[in-house]
Amino acid sequence: MATPLPVADARETRVQAMAYLRRHRRGFILIVLTQTVAALCGLVGPFLLGRLVNDIGNGLTMHTVNILAGLLAAALILQSAFTFLTRRQSYILGEEVFAELRENFLGRLLELPLSVVERAGTGDLLARTTNDMDALAYTVRFAVPESLVAIVTLVVTIVAVIATLPVMGLVCLTGTPLLVLGTRWYLSRAPESYRRERASYATMSGTFSETADGARTVDALSLAERQKQRLRRDLAESYKWERRNLFLRCTWFPFVDAGLSLPVALSVFVGGLLCFSHHATVGQVTAVTLYVQQLGDPLDRLLSWLDELQIGTSALARLFGVALVADDRTPTGAVPEDEAITATDVTYAYREGHDVLRNVSVALTPGERLAIVGPSGAGKSTLGRLLAGIDGPRLGSVDVGDVPLTDLALNDLRGHVALVTQEHHLFIGSVRDNLILARPGADDAALLAALDAVDAKGWVLELPSGLDTEIGSIGHQLSPSQAQQLSLARLVLADPHTLVLDEATSLLDPRAARHLERSLSAVVDGRTVVAIAHRLHTAHDADRVAVVDGGQITELGTHDELIERNGSYAALWRSWRDEA
Ligand code: ADP
Repeated sequence: MATPLPVADARETRVQAMAYLRRHRRGFILIVLTQTVAALCGLVGPFLLGRLVNDIGNGLTMHTVNILAGLLAAALILQSAFTFLTRRQSYILGEEVFAELRENFLGRLLELPLSVVERAGTGDLLARTTNDMDALAYTVRFAVPESLVAIVTLVVTIVAVIATLPVMGLVCLTGTPLLVLGTRWYLSRAPESYRRERASYATMSGTFSETADGARTVDALSLAERQKQRLRRDLAESYKWERRNLFLRCTWFPFVDAGLSLPVALSVFVGGLLCFSHHATVGQVTAVTLYVQQLGDPLDRLLSWLDELQIGTSALARLFGVALVADDRTPTGAVPEDEAITATDVTYAYREGHDVLRNVSVALTPGERLAIVGPSGAGKSTLGRLLAGIDGPRLGSVDVGDVPLTDLALNDLRGHVALVTQEHHLFIGSVRDNLILARPGADDAALLAALDAVDAKGWVLELPSGLDTEIGSIGHQLSPSQAQQLSLARLVLADPHTLVLDEATSLLDPRAARHLERSLSAVVDGRTVVAIAHRLHTAHDADRVAVVDGGQITELGTHDELIERNGSYAALWRSWRDEA
């Protein structure tokens, strides 16, 4: 069962988001400033219209009209220019913030403890790197800047209303309860309902394609009626959620419309009263009513982005959640005195209450080759992972020169011990790129020597461009055994003093595997090698053999000693030799 990665709670998400905001304070301030100017320019029209109305009563000259028209044109040009600046700045800022979010997220992802990644499974990580990132990209690039622009416009317009006729500020607020109530009602129901609608479409298209793909089977087993019924059920489900969503929108929209129109109607009414009681001029009321009407557009935009902001916030919570994973090692800065790796009374469980290793002790003598054999599921790979410091033991300790492996920073640790398993990955790039990862700066002679050590020099040189041949998922296709050889060559280049090989040659045929192991052991001469083996010749060639069974080391000694002891290793060896 996969254990999903954590999700940040609302408070943590807010704190983190605020930190981004602070880091990009200048950018945000710039947007607020340019948009304030743009919004002010947008208010010039109503203001001038108010003046015009007042002037009509006081005798209007053509000259005044010309001046007002000129001012209006100037304001419009200025507004366009500043709107352009705001847009430009907000897109740049959106990209910058998003790039930073993505970099931090990926950086953190790559630092995650391997055991956590394995437990979470690829689905969760993939969903966060793709779906959540995409959702967030849209929010950060569009929803956040557009909402900011709308908020600035709202504030500037309301300030203009209050500055012209203070009581009208209250009129502006009259729509708020309707907007808040309607929108809260809608937003608390809509996401789930839309999710159900999308899920019902997915189910329906599944049934459709299954019926079409399996048409012959449907026909042969007379399943037509059954499939029809399923489709009808799927359709009914989709219809139900579509109706529901339509109902939600049809209820929400009138609230929004009423919330936007009410202040406009009221400002005409209250304005009229103010005019009659000589508390305001007709021009002032005209200007204010137009301001109030202008509130509609930014309010409408803000409401339409709320959905998106909500989706973005939940994506953000999942991305920030990755940072909440606790480190599985705390480097203490201690420096190992020698290269001896020792496991002492190690007990380990993947799941609580299910120990897969119990009280295992083994001291590796520097330079020796230890083979680990035993039945499948006995705990061999687990022991290999602990000896390579990938996981820390639940009880007991695994040390290198008296320093627990999990007290070393990962980079240090890999200088001591490295693990190669059956699973290997080739990155998109040339053979050289893939090898040089293990030892940056290595020259071709070193790369070829490493390839030679794993019997791969011959075929690499025969590739179309030799070391420069592009490989990986889109380049030249290598066979699984060739890929395995390259990952072993990387190990040779990385040159740690202890190597743990977990079925690292399993993809090669037995003869090639044995040859490779021999050439490899010539190169890693003097290094400590732990080889988890399913082919017993590996054990035969090793200095010592450990038999792991039921989470414990049941036999430990040289090949000859164990044969002499006539225990389970001897039995294994006899049956293997008879087969071979
Ligand atoms: P071997 O290498 O000898 O085949 P393993 O070390 O792979 O054995 O597995 C030992 C036991 O631990 C098995 O019972 C296996 O099911 C269990 N196990 C291995 N990996 C995991 C894991 N990631 N999560 C839970 N249990 C695991």
